[in-house]
Amino acid sequence: MSKFLSVQCAACKAKQTVFGNATETIACAGCGDVICTPTGGRTIVTGKIVEVL
Ligand SMILES: [Zn+2]
Repeated sequence: MSKFLSVQCAACKAKQTVFGNATETIACAGCGDVICTPTGGRTIVTGKIVEVL
């Protein structure tokens, strides 16, 4: 997965654009909750993917 994703935070509903195979943990800009976790191969999105860009 090497696309940009629009991810909505499960906690505060803020949307954020993230890279589909990010290599770093990405935190929500609004509340700091982790919304993406890299696992070496693919990224686990813990928020809700609302759009694939
Ligand atoms: Zn949030």
